[in-house]
Amino acid sequence: MHKLEFYTVKISDIIIETPIIKRFFLTFDSPIIFQAGQFIILKFEGLKHQFDTRSYSIADFTCSNILEICISLKDEGAATPILFEKKIGEELCSSLPQGRFVITEEAVLKPLFFICTGTGVAPFRSMIKELLLYKFFTKSINLYFGCRTREDILYFEEFKLLMKTYPNFKYFPILSREKWEGETGYVHPYYLKELENKPDALFYLCGWTTMLKETRDNLKAIGYERKDIKVEFYD
Ligand SMILES: Cc1cc2nc3c(=O)[nH]c(=O)nc-3n(C[C@H](O)[C@H](O)[C@H](O)COP(=O)(O)OP(=O)(O)OC[C@H]3O[C@@H](n4cnc5c(N)ncnc54)[C@H](O)[C@@H]3O)c2cc1C
Repeated sequence: MHKLEFYTVKISDIIIETPIIKRFFLTFDSPIIFQAGQFIILKFEGLKHQFDTRSYSIADFTCSNILEICISLKDEGAATPILFEKKIGEELCSSLPQGRFVITEEAVLKPLFFICTGTGVAPFRSMIKELLLYKFFTKSINLYFGCRTREDILYFEEFKLLMKTYPNFKYFPILSREKWEGETGYVHPYYLKELENKPDALFYLCGWTTMLKETRDNLKAIGYERKDIKVEFYD
């Protein structure tokens, strides 16, 4: 296995998205290459935990040497409380983009279903923007995003704008703990309804294990094969 190299990156901006979610913009010294869907690994000095690294999906690519990550605070966690204390101008230690959770050649031939909760939407934001804005993808793209309350919806205005601009993009934000004018409950019944006639489709799932395993079981139960279900586990 090759040894991971780390680079000093500067925090060039921070957006407080919700009380427990921050978007960090990291600037590398020189341009980097990445594929939509990949993640970086941050290394922490003296972390009180078995491992001193944490992975974060790249949520956007604004410039050839700046990338965005979107992090949710885990109060009892080892790394996120440290990250949430960081200020603009401070430095972090990052790997180059990693991972194979990317749009494959077969993916550009099929309708796509992206299913996630919380910050699991990060890699999908990169992928969906790349597909719509740069790859002129014309098959359907369906994004199912679950979170608790309206305040927790990430990139809401941006996804609504994409939906308005690109008729092949369908966006389903679903709230589990608040009534609103949109969908409520858990994500599962919503994508299952869309799949009633079992259309040809490819699935990307991202986030925390429990929801992803339930989703994968649901998809297998209605006849989709494991090879058509790509998963990125955050834990
Ligand atoms: C490929 C990959 C990409 C990732 N991308 C992101 C990302 O874009 N944004 C992001 O916020 N996190 C992401 N993570 C999770 C991240 O790496 C850390 O696990 C998370 O930030 C918690 O770190 P911590 O040190 O504060 O908590 P830890 O001390 O590591 O937490 C202890 C335990 O809690 C679990 N856990 C942590 N957060 C949650 C949560 N919100 N819900 C349920 N269980 C949780 C951990 O898996 C661990 O088992 C990603 C993980 C992987 C593997």
